[in-house]
Parts: sequence; structure tokens; C-alpha cells
Amino acid sequence: MIKRGFRYRLDPTDEQELMFRKFAGVCRAVYNAALHQREVFWRQHLRTEGRHVSYVGQAAELTALRAEFDWIREVSQACEQQALRDLDNAFQRFFDGVSGYPTPRRKGKNDGFRFQGRNVEVEKLNRNWSRVKLPKIGWVRFRDTRPMVGKLKNVTVSLDSLGWHVSFAREIEHEAPANIAPAVGIDRGVANSIAMSTGEMDSIGKERLAVLDRRRRKHQRDLSRRKRGSQRYGKTRKRVAAVAAKGARVREHFNHVRTTRIVRNFGTVCIEDLNIANMTASAKGTVEEPGKNVAQKAGLNRSILEQGWGQFEEFLTYKLAASGGVLVKVDPRNTSRKCSNCGHIDARNRESQASFRCVECGHEAHADVNAAINILQAGTRPSEEAKAPRRKSRKAA
Ligand SMILES: [Zn+2]
Repeated sequence: MIKRGFRYRLDPTDEQELMFRKFAGVCRAVYNAALHQREVFWRQHLRTEGRHVSYVGQAAELTALRAEFDWIREVSQACEQQALRDLDNAFQRFFDGVSGYPTPRRKGKNDGFRFQGRNVEVEKLNRNWSRVKLPKIGWVRFRDTRPMVGKLKNVTVSLDSLGWHVSFAREIEHEAPANIAPAVGIDRGVANSIAMSTGEMDSIGKERLAVLDRRRRKHQRDLSRRKRGSQRYGKTRKRVAAVAAKGARVREHFNHVRTTRIVRNFGTVCIEDLNIANMTASAKGTVEEPGKNVAQKAGLNRSILEQGWGQFEEFLTYKLAASGGVLVKVDPRNTSRKCSNCGHIDARNRESQASFRCVECGHEAHADVNAAINILQAGTRPSEEAKAPRRKSRKAA
């Protein structure tokens, strides 16, 4: 089963936009209140009595709250429940060690709300437009830029700097791809932008970004010397913004060129399933649970963002959808420590950032290419076999 997201720009009426804001606000309030309740409850009861607050308990309380407060009742219960479910999942990921401790949602940063797939309807209007029916909001038009496939799991409405968007998360059965071009594994590294299982490596042109970064810092220094509100201040500020926009364009261009070339040559593309949002959010940690190696991770996060992995994946996803190809996301565990020749997993296999040498069989390779081959093998292995080594490695651990 493969998860795929389809994101489109919404075209809400003024009235609908008002409803969006209300939905986002109430869902945020419900999420934050539920988070607060769990924290208080933990302090008072769980530690001493072992009692537990769960999604079911909180959902029942939500029904009571809806009877009491008009403003909570005005918003669809389905998406308020979804906010509670999201919180429950956030805690689950925290307990599993996958992500950091859940933090409150903030206005201006987390403006969105979600429904489960069964709560919404989608309808095609014409070549360019479709519409989605959201509970209590009604039909909202969106620009239909590409066809959707798979079973609808959930729907997210969210606001970013370009306006309101809708994302449809879908699950696709992993069948033989229509596109019979060969498969490739891709490792997204830090030192080398990407490495492919074919041995090819490709870099984003970090020198160019470094030049832009230096220029941006220079303008920023200038800016701090100018008098706020003066003409020269305004000019310098524009320069800072222009350099930042240029950096973003360089990244975008590289990601386009690179993904187009990959999709032209390969039918199945395997990459690691990295939740970039989680990776970048977790380094800072929380007051209770400060992140480990904060400075080191902040640096790594910066370079991850610099390389625009999220954008790379986004481009790859829609270009593969267009070519009939398949994007396979594999479990990232051990891909950099496993020998692609004999399968031996050992941290010592990785001699340095760049070089890999197996302590078992002596196999030598560029570390990122070795990882890319592991990713390819994990992504193209039949699912029955795919489960077996995982069980084995858990026993070994
Ligand atoms: Zn080996």
C-alpha cells in the first residue's frame, strides 16, 4: 500500500473563507485544550493511580462541550473529532520515539482542519475545475490540476502564504506499475544532494546557494545599520527579500531538472520515508523535553531545508503520477548502515560521511550509493519478504 497526497488550490467564496477560519480556530482550540487536559491529567492521576486519558474519553467530553457552547457546535463534529485523533496520533508517535512531544497548535502556523475521507464528496465540474463537499461548509471549488487515484483516506484544508488549499490523502494498492521502465533507489543525503542506486550522484549546486547566503547575510547586516523606516532601510529590505527569493528559485530549478530526468529514465522510484516536518520540528524539543544535540540538529535541519527535500518529493510524486510510474517509500531504518552486498548491518560499516566498507564481507562503496541500493532493494522486494528481515533485526537488537 502506497500513500499519496493530492493538493489543490481552493477557490472559496468570502463566506466560505470565513467558515474556514472559524473551523481552523475551533479545531485548534479543541486540540490545544485536549493537549492541556492530557498534561494536567498525567500530573494528577496517571503517575499515582495509573489512570489514563484516551481518545475515546476525550471524544465523549467533546459531545458534552458541544451541548454547552454554541461556538463549538457551529463547527462540524467530524473535524473536531479528527483534531482529537490527530492529538492521539501525535502522542502515539511520541511514545514510539518517532517524533517529539506534541506542542500546541498556533494561529498563523497551524491554520487548518481535517476530515476523514468518508465525510466528504468530490465531483468533477469541467476540464479545469472540480469541487469538494465539506460538512457544514458545502461545495467548494478547486483548480483540478491533476487526476486523483486510490482510496480516499482523509482530507485536509489548510492555509499557507498562497491561500487555502485542500489535500486528499489516498492509498494505492501496490500493483505492477504501468510504466515498465527500470526501478531506481535514491538516497537523499546531506553531503551529496542525492545519490542513485546506479552510482550516479547529483548535487544541488551548494556553491551557488552559499554565494547567495553570504549575500543575504551581508544585506541583513546592512539592514541592521539602517534607520528603521528610512528610504535606505526600505531599499535594503527589498534586497534581502530578493536574495531569499532567488535562493528559492535556484532550489526549485534544480529540483525540477533533477526530478524530470529521473522520471524520464525510471518507472519505479524508491526513496526513504522521511517525515521532514517531524525531523525539523523535533530538534528544538519542548520545555519539559529539551531536544538533544540542539545545535548540531539545527545545523542538519538547516541543510535539509536548504536542499528542499520536501519539494523534491512533491515534484517527483506528481511527475510520476503523470508518467504512470510509482513512488515507493521505504522504512529508512538501517539503510545507511547495511551492506548492500551481504546484508550485514553494523554502524562500523560506515567509515565516514562518504565512505562505506563492510566489516563482514569487505564490500566498498560510496556510502550514499550503498544506501541508495538498499533503498532500491527494500522498495522492490515482494511484500512477504519485506516483512521478514524486519522481524529478524528486531530480535537481533
Ligand atoms: Zn557486506
